[in-house]
Amino acid sequence: MAKEFKNYINGRWTASSDGQTFEQLNPANLEEVTGIWPASTHADARTAIEAAAKAYESWSVMSVYKRAEYFKKVLEGMKKRKGEFAQILTMENGKTLKESEAEINSAIKEMEFQINEGLRLKGQTMPTSIEGVLAYSLRRPLGVVSIISPWNFPFNVPGRKVTPALMAGNTCVFKPASLTPGTGQKFVELFVDADFPHGVINFVTGSGSTVGQEMITNPAIKAISFTGSIAVGRKINQKASEIMARTQLEMGGKNPIVVLEDGDLDAAAGASVTAAYACAGQWCTSTSRVIVTRKIKDKFIERLIERAKKIVVGNGLDEKTTMGPVCGKAQLESIMNCIDIGTKEGAKLTLGGKRIMSDGCDKGCFIEPTVFTDVKADMRIAQEEIFGPVLSIIEVSDFEEAVEVANNVEFGLSSSIYTRNLQKAFTFLEQTETGLTHVNLMTALKEPQLTFGGIKESGFGIPEAGKTGIEFFTDHKVAYVKYR
Ligand code: NAP
Ligand code: MG
Repeated sequence: MAKEFKNYINGRWTASSDGQTFEQLNPANLEEVTGIWPASTHADARTAIEAAAKAYESWSVMSVYKRAEYFKKVLEGMKKRKGEFAQILTMENGKTLKESEAEINSAIKEMEFQINEGLRLKGQTMPTSIEGVLAYSLRRPLGVVSIISPWNFPFNVPGRKVTPALMAGNTCVFKPASLTPGTGQKFVELFVDADFPHGVINFVTGSGSTVGQEMITNPAIKAISFTGSIAVGRKINQKASEIMARTQLEMGGKNPIVVLEDGDLDAAAGASVTAAYACAGQWCTSTSRVIVTRKIKDKFIERLIERAKKIVVGNGLDEKTTMGPVCGKAQLESIMNCIDIGTKEGAKLTLGGKRIMSDGCDKGCFIEPTVFTDVKADMRIAQEEIFGPVLSIIEVSDFEEAVEVANNVEFGLSSSIYTRNLQKAFTFLEQTETGLTHVNLMTALKEPQLTFGGIKESGFGIPEAGKTGIEFFTDHKVAYVKYR
């Protein structure tokens, strides 16, 4: 029998108020229940919001250095318990143990940066036009904020959001994705062990339509930081406007790599394969389209397929595995449906395309690394986010057409170009319609000291990470002082 877990509200582990629960299933074996979780109600989320509002009174006026001391204990715990957390992350999400460890390591780096940003949260002083008057501005916290996270980075995304929120003096309610509550719970345990005052962080599991709904409509909420799909992001934005809460929405992508004749084809093939199949293609920054010029297309595809064939699909807990299952039955069905659509649209299935049903994989959500060639830019598989191990290769005649195709989607998260031509590289950087772009690097590369977020339908509001990470969670207060 799987273990039953609880919410963390106002410093206490508590069950859902109506006793309802849901199960989390291991995507590598859907017969294995990894945990039983509270299917919380509107009332539970409300209680959590009220606890956060009460805790705000003292947390918001605490010295930021003291807040940083609490966070340092969180980081110590994270470093110590990395191995244990990686196991849970792999069992819930499916990604390989190595990928889980990498996620926790990047959470540590991102959180370290945001803790320090909290310590140097600056205002301004300005000369005034009135003699004897000093004017300056201060940064203030907002109040209670909602943190709504996805299942693909269930440890790192909460870290990236909760750290600047709390360092700035806000308190929060955190709802994990229902596919990965255990990873979220481990994250929160670190705050419990670091003795954070009760109510500063509250953890409520349950569906988007109950817990999530309360977290985006309750008038006590001052800001909502969300990562997930465009459909839910749009809904959050509509609801948030009714309670005047600000939003930070990090959403999907359809990220292209452009490969030109003068680019390093081996490096481009390597970057495409890494960013298309890592975490089974479920990074928001995964490469999902390769846009390659006609002259080198065949040579490039050959190199790419050679590399993709080396991927070992299996249980993420197995050391030999280089690609785990996709995260759950709904994901599996949705990706298989996209592959079916691609085939029917007339794209050529050059590699993979099937669910893996061999021994050891038959109870899980395993899909072959898949490559479509002869993809046309307006096909659905070239336009819609698949969020799985499926790469579409689109042939173009020249650089200009490549840029046009790269931009011809509703998304704008990340992009990349492989070229040794300076003029083309910089023209691409200028014209690419994404929040994050690269030259001779994979689409997924990013570092914590720089802002991370998309444009077009991929992102809305002040983006996460870097300098803007904490900016989102603060207001400016300006003071004028007459001293003479
Ligand atoms: P999702 O379905 O939008 O869910 C994201 C979160 O929102 C979950 O916690 C979900 O709860 C919650 N939610 C669902 N409906 C809600 C509602 N009506 N009100 C409030 N909250 C609600 O997205 P997903 O399937 O978990 O994640 C995959 C998507 O995330 C992809 O599109 C991917 O590209 C994107 N993503 C973007 C980034 C980025 O930084 N740009 C990073 C990672 C992922 P439940 O789980 O309970 O439904
Ligand atoms: Mg969903």
